[in-house]
Amino acid sequence: MEIPIRSLRIFNRLFRKPFGFSAYRTVSTATVKEEASAELLNSFNQDIKAGGAVPVFRRALLFPSRVALQDDFGTYTYAALYQAATALSQDIAAQLEGETEYTISYMCTNDASHIVVQWAIWMTGNIAVPLTPLHPAEMLKYYITDSGSNLIICLQDFEKILRPVSQELSKPLLVVYRPKDDKSEQGKDQGKIDQGKDVEGRDQSKVDQVKDLGKDEQGKVVQGSVQDDSISDVGPSNMWYGGTEAMLIYTSGTTSKPKGVVWTHNMLATQISSLHTAWQYTAQDVVLHTLPLHHIHGQLNSLNASLAAGARIRMLPSFASHTVWARLLGTGDREESRISVFHGVPAMYARLAADYDKMFADKKTRDYVRTTLSAKMRLMCAGSAALPETLFKKWEEISGMRLLERYGMSECGMALSNPYRPLEGRTLGHVGLPLPGVAARLVPADKGLQPVLTVESPAPDTQISLDKLGLTSKKGSYEGSWTTAVTEHALSQDGVFEGELYLKGPAVFTRYWNRAPTLDSPDFTEDDWFRTGDTASFADGKFKILGRTSIDIIKTGGYKVSALQVESAILEHPSVADVAVLGIDDDSYGEIIATVVVLKEKCSLTLKELKEEAGKRLAPYQLPKTMLIVNEMPRNAMGKLDKKEIKRRFGEQLVLKKK
Ligand code: AMP
Repeated sequence: MEIPIRSLRIFNRLFRKPFGFSAYRTVSTATVKEEASAELLNSFNQDIKAGGAVPVFRRALLFPSRVALQDDFGTYTYAALYQAATALSQDIAAQLEGETEYTISYMCTNDASHIVVQWAIWMTGNIAVPLTPLHPAEMLKYYITDSGSNLIICLQDFEKILRPVSQELSKPLLVVYRPKDDKSEQGKDQGKIDQGKDVEGRDQSKVDQVKDLGKDEQGKVVQGSVQDDSISDVGPSNMWYGGTEAMLIYTSGTTSKPKGVVWTHNMLATQISSLHTAWQYTAQDVVLHTLPLHHIHGQLNSLNASLAAGARIRMLPSFASHTVWARLLGTGDREESRISVFHGVPAMYARLAADYDKMFADKKTRDYVRTTLSAKMRLMCAGSAALPETLFKKWEEISGMRLLERYGMSECGMALSNPYRPLEGRTLGHVGLPLPGVAARLVPADKGLQPVLTVESPAPDTQISLDKLGLTSKKGSYEGSWTTAVTEHALSQDGVFEGELYLKGPAVFTRYWNRAPTLDSPDFTEDDWFRTGDTASFADGKFKILGRTSIDIIKTGGYKVSALQVESAILEHPSVADVAVLGIDDDSYGEIIATVVVLKEKCSLTLKELKEEAGKRLAPYQLPKTMLIVNEMPRNAMGKLDKKEIKRRFGEQLVLKKK
């Protein structure tokens, strides 16, 4: 299929020209041309009504002159990213001879290059498969092979990693260049890269740079800007995107080989509308992005939902606590780049809290931190792992902000969330209710798979509203609240329901890549509910996650215990810095509760002391029977406890010794 790429000429001019700060144009909402946008918006919304999907990059046409991103190299408007992506998309289209719906694996650093490559893939109608350099070569080979990628794209930084991989797998590699320093000899090579031929003998030399940041006289990187924010529409129609796939997000594969979750443009658009509605995204948001981009948390909540809102992202190459503190406090930042939104995993908040204790000792500084954060931050979210109650409270003390905890998965993006408002509705240890477009169901394993409860939330309004995003002079905003209804429930004596969490709805995926759906699939029921593999409970109108059914639900002496609940209680002990709770096989109890602990500096702890403290919050049968103190806890790239690895490393030392 021929892809209509109406192109752009200005890409090179764009990034090559250094502009000083004075030349950098700050764009206010007033500069958004309301009439022009209104016409385009109308056509987008008509397409959406007719079943189409507006891909995230195309929304840039609605607010081209707004700043989309600031990274460690420069500041880019939506038009700048769009233009760079358009230029790259021509090379991709040439490489794939105009084919669409091919998978393309890519590896970039966390900066503008990631967005440019992802948009370029989408502009050519292909499917983006983000890779991370955190994974070893063997895993990368697995992702590239499993996804059947027809092309690999990488930023020059990762050529060393991906060149041998691409050769071994006989896949064409497109290297995308960051320009060299003008003074360096290599600078001459800019723009003409990779002269090789691919396996099918096609010319691989059609590669471009994604970014060419200027340097000022002092050699400091200055902000790149666009002189011309006129961008023209590229890529297939919205109707075409409405029926096609956007990206594959690989699961972390804790129980089996990682599986590629198929994200369609429609599912992405539904998730984006759901988050905009529930958490009140606006174009005025300034989002601090520090999450890995091969994972849905970073891809959806922080990146794509923000870009779809016309917001501004400050992207760091990775999470570094001191830098994050500086950015949160806005040290040296201009008013328009002061952070107002942050999405993090609990391990990040734990790190920030630990450094807060070390860095901000006196009361005056602490008051300043609290006043600054409460004044500037609109939203701080936590999720992807359980948020311990101690951390929730500690963060409120530090910042005056109540963290908004939500539950999500690669398979369904964000599924359950505490309310945006009222703030008191964000309750400790709970994850709230289904987000728009999600139905959640609890199914106990021992009751013949009969659901005990179903709670549904209607699909979100997917129409794009510039008013609600704060991009027009008309005042408006997303609701920040949404409706849910309990549509069926069994009788419960104590009002508490418990079971495996099942999900379904337009915001939830329907298939894994490269795996034929089977009727007896362990992933879906016959009537298409996705089995999450998590156990949850529901009481007082909200869900609570009890953990992975396979590893966090411990069956001990006839009781069922949630490892997450025990971990949360143990973290209340003043000597404990980190903890993992596991079930270890035992002849008498079936399983015993065992705990692995990292202590705070200069602290000591016995099992007896631990039980005394945790016993204030837990029943005796929930208390650990064995304990091991270690220096470091194995965690994955997302900062989640790697329980498989913890068990492998420490399991034997946690067995209950027979007296
Ligand atoms: P991933 O697909 O890597 O995002 O992992 C999804 C898994 O993370 C879920 O199946 C849960 O086990 C866990 N998870 C996500 N959010 C939460 C949360 N708020 N509380 C507890 N576990 C969570």
